[in-house]
Amino acid sequence: MNFKQEIQKRRTFGIISHPDAGKTTLTEKLLLFGGAIQEAGAVKSNKIKKGATSDFMEIERQRGISVATSVLAFYYKDKKINILDTPGHKDFAEDTFRTLTAVDSVIVVIDVAKGVEEQTEKLVEVCRMRNIPMIVFINKLDREGKDAFDLMDEVEQKLGLQVSPLSFPIGMGYDFKGIYNIYEQNILLFQGESKQHIEDTISIEDINSPELEELIGEKDAQELREHLELIEGVYPPFDREAYLAGTQQPVFFGSALNNFGVRELLNCFVDIAPTPRSKKAEERLVAADEKQMTGFVFKIHANMDPKHRDRLAFVKIVSGTFERNKPYLHVRLGKSLKFSSPNAFFAEKKAIIDQSFPGDIVGLHDTGNFKIGDTLTEGEELHYKGIPSFSPEHFRYINNADPMKAKQLAKGIDQLMDEGVAQLFTLELNGRKVIGTVGALQYEVIQYRLEHEYGAKCTYENFPVYKACWVAPQAQPTEEYQEFLRVKQKFLAKDKRGQLVFLADSAFSLQMTQQKYPTVQLHFTSEFD
Ligand code: GDP
Repeated sequence: MNFKQEIQKRRTFGIISHPDAGKTTLTEKLLLFGGAIQEAGAVKSNKIKKGATSDFMEIERQRGISVATSVLAFYYKDKKINILDTPGHKDFAEDTFRTLTAVDSVIVVIDVAKGVEEQTEKLVEVCRMRNIPMIVFINKLDREGKDAFDLMDEVEQKLGLQVSPLSFPIGMGYDFKGIYNIYEQNILLFQGESKQHIEDTISIEDINSPELEELIGEKDAQELREHLELIEGVYPPFDREAYLAGTQQPVFFGSALNNFGVRELLNCFVDIAPTPRSKKAEERLVAADEKQMTGFVFKIHANMDPKHRDRLAFVKIVSGTFERNKPYLHVRLGKSLKFSSPNAFFAEKKAIIDQSFPGDIVGLHDTGNFKIGDTLTEGEELHYKGIPSFSPEHFRYINNADPMKAKQLAKGIDQLMDEGVAQLFTLELNGRKVIGTVGALQYEVIQYRLEHEYGAKCTYENFPVYKACWVAPQAQPTEEYQEFLRVKQKFLAKDKRGQLVFLADSAFSLQMTQQKYPTVQLHFTSEFD
């Protein structure tokens, strides 16, 4: 198979949802279709169990599982499908945002009863901003839920999407009869045994034929015809170009738990989902079919065994063929690196591979060379964009609790920040270190890992910050800018990349600062043009 065919074969995507909408269940059913796993229950949920020991050990447990579920690959209809894991829990939102820089499309799972939930909104917004193609899967149709039209309205309003239904439910909950597949023009009937085996579809040439009455009864047949007519009148027909451009989102209905409507979703997905897309670097746009290998690190995982401090850096191949033992340029360090045992990921294992293609993820063993966002090339000075940091929610000073272990502490903090566990800010005034996290539990995780992996001890101290804002540098600082730097010195810090950050202590002071220094540009993410 040649290089172009390899690219054409690949579909790399993520499933995003609010916790409990059914992401794990859907992933599992997709893997079953791919023959990648043999039975249900093989994919472990990596979410934080509600009510379980909701302390940091739970996060550690989660971390263990997420090593195994980071990338799940399988083959279906001759396509190689890579599912990248995107944790739904909000404490891992940054992790998910970063992973979304490595997907070529997403499937959004929505619970038919709960509708659009908070995390779905946040994650979809990130995808929308990047024009990532999205398919919406409305799940749990075997349960009572919201009216399908109301739900599509909600998806349009709350998520800012433009939907085009490609399937539509017949009844719901107790009365759930099945699904009409608009994309393939057939009917899938929901039967009691659906759980045990996958139903065959029944093709319907003409929705107006009396055949429909025979299948689903007069009342439902009538209703379905009306619904389809309404759909035709209200929603635009499916337009693949619009889907690929991120301006239209097809919708499917089904029940992941019953494996109902999942095959239809998958069949359509392999048909329409994008092959590896080109990606913007600071210097230029890089197309997947360029010969030279380029890729970037979007995730770093520490070894779960504290005795081996090596890490796995996850690299998305953007262009070219990645080869084992070939030297590549680590652009940030200006260093040439070779990898003797790059890992490829499959559903239940990882294996050393000789070659990877655009769309694939390779896992590289690392002893501290990589940071999230790093670029690898065959020599070109290229910097991939799009792995921004957002303002953390919590901020605390970190203090050294064992003066003999200052070095270990510094190294530990450094490496944990490289992994993206939290963000480090160093105060301009006195060099004190502040750790910012999305969830409060992360502080316990950091403390625990510093002690067990680096032999260092730390304590925390409260540091009230409302929001971290990145300050745009000025080539020729105006007087106003200089005054801002002077007056706000106490609230200024550098982030890990050396960018200047203003740590506003309240919404009010942020507003006052913006009013007083209108030419000082404050940004809510670390990446801006
Ligand atoms: P995740 O948090 O999004 O990964 O959600 P899970 O896949 O773990 O599912 C959350 C819960 O919803 C589990 O108890 C599933 O068994 C259940 N669930 C998933 N899909 C369906 C479905 O189609 N119907 C029903 N009734 N329950 C479902």
